Amino acid sequence: MLIHGKCHCGNIAFALAWEPDPAEIPARACDCLFCTKHGGVWTSNPRGALKVTVRDPSLVSKYAFGTRTAEFHVCARCGIVPVVTSRIDGRLYAVVSVNAFEGVDPSLLRRKPASFEGEGKDDRLARRKRNWIGDVEFVENRA
Ligand SMILES: [Zn+2]
Repeated sequence: MLIHGKCHCGNIAFALAWEPDPAEIPARACDCLFCTKHGGVWTSNPRGALKVTVRDPSLVSKYAFGTRTAEFHVCARCGIVPVVTSRIDGRLYAVVSVNAFEGVDPSLLRRKPASFEGEGKDDRLARRKRNWIGDVEFVENRA
């Protein structure tokens, strides 16, 4: 299954290859303050392959907080956050927002609350290495 998503204005778009086709897609409603304020709900497949296409990189605001080990890619034009990345040991990992999905049957989504407060930095990075998408490519596609 190739899952497409994008921000509202289309400046940040992604395609996530998810093989084999998922019977269900985990959707983690993170309870950190940023995700609470944004309604952030994230998914990842450690064996998936993600391609992110950015039309105008000058209109992407990268926001980090807390341990500053993850970057939220906020579209500066429309305010949507389709993707979060974390660089660990030189490799780029990512999760994508299920709210940014386009044309995915919502009944596939298994929404669950997720809480990572109190998790130490090492545990956090180890968890991302296990669970986040480990094949991430960014393409800047100036029109
Ligand atoms: Zn946008």
